[in-house]
Amino acid sequence: MDVRIIVEITAETGVKRMQELHRLGLSGQCHGDLGLKLEHGKALLARLQRVILKQQIKEISDASRNCPCCGRVRPIHDYRTRTLDTLFGRVPLKVLRRRKCSCRAGKGDAFSPLARALRDRSTPELKILQAELGARYSFREAARILETFLPCAKQHNTTIRNRLGKVAKDINDAEPPVCETVSPNPPTVFIDGAHIRCRPEYQKRHLDVVVGKIETRDMCRRFGLAPKAATSPAAQLRRDLDVLGWDGQRPVTVISDGEAALPNLIRGATNGKVQHILDWWHISMRVQHVENAIKGLVRVENFPGVPVIFTKPAETLRWYLWHGKIQTAGTDLQWLIADCARLSKADTRVRDAASRALSRCYDLYSYLANNMGSLVNYGRRYRRGLPISTSRAEGCVDDIGNARMGKRRRMRWSPQGAHNVAVTRAAVLDGRLSVSNAKIAA
Ligand SMILES: [Zn+2]
Repeated sequence: MDVRIIVEITAETGVKRMQELHRLGLSGQCHGDLGLKLEHGKALLARLQRVILKQQIKEISDASRNCPCCGRVRPIHDYRTRTLDTLFGRVPLKVLRRRKCSCRAGKGDAFSPLARALRDRSTPELKILQAELGARYSFREAARILETFLPCAKQHNTTIRNRLGKVAKDINDAEPPVCETVSPNPPTVFIDGAHIRCRPEYQKRHLDVVVGKIETRDMCRRFGLAPKAATSPAAQLRRDLDVLGWDGQRPVTVISDGEAALPNLIRGATNGKVQHILDWWHISMRVQHVENAIKGLVRVENFPGVPVIFTKPAETLRWYLWHGKIQTAGTDLQWLIADCARLSKADTRVRDAASRALSRCYDLYSYLANNMGSLVNYGRRYRRGLPISTSRAEGCVDDIGNARMGKRRRMRWSPQGAHNVAVTRAAVLDGRLSVSNAKIAA
């Protein structure tokens, strides 16, 4: 079977033109291998792309013929060759330049009517797709996927990496869309850190990537950045807050574990307008350790003390902390510490169990003391339906950090590379990265 594919092009002027695009010789006796194959499809698309591009270039060039002010013809200055990288192949183009009209300032200079369209030597769609695949898969894998399904030019892992870097920069440099509606409630920020492997030349084993989520009642937005490489983490976070309609006045709620650097990033972005809340899950885990250690202690054979003196405060600790009675919880803990310390010195039979319980109590005590200002009435917040833990940010650690840069992937990262991937991945997961998003594409 012989198949001829013909395109009919109708120009803006109404002139029609027919052109043979491709000729396919398909065997009539193929064994279960019916229809078009991938290679045919790729070849067809590549040819179609060339025909369409040539026509578009011609129309844009023709449209620039007359001066928009006086209507005089602007003569052709010269022709230049340009290549345009597209999803459907790299196309060499012959592009004209025209002389500027004498009715305007700067006469005599040549200009190209296609300068804007060919500025990056590649189409926005290709760039966005390269960045998206690079954020989802390894750069090599992304290059392979593109080459497999599309008649694009040969892809290199370094091309994908550089394109992703450019797109990440565009995301960071993009002006935030003006948000007309100020959110009735200030946003809540869930923030957490991920550790990824660092490349050997940076003399460190690990690199910190900060990830998280900003939520208002009806919107949410993920973010990711490597503080070492970000030009301005504060500006980046501030823009995300603005996009979600933060009024710039009321304090933003930040929920994180005890690491001080994380809420400080948000403090930098909001000029200190932050209410920091310590994540309940991290407190609860430490309380659990105390409870278990005390249980183990009183179960020791021939326990010399009065069990209830130990079990009672350990059991009520969680209740006090949940209801925001920090002072009472602190006093309870101090009693426990004093009693356990006495036991760990006095009696050889319970020494091990007592010192274990003692270290657990100290651990919780110092954790609470270091984060005194960030403890709230968790019970009340919970009953009002307000968030009390960073569980949602921990999802981001997996989605943004570990899935692409986790330790199991055996890749090593430079701070800038990790930053670019974190920024782009957050945008990809939010669905913000698309060609229709003109701010990024332009
Ligand atoms: Zn003119």
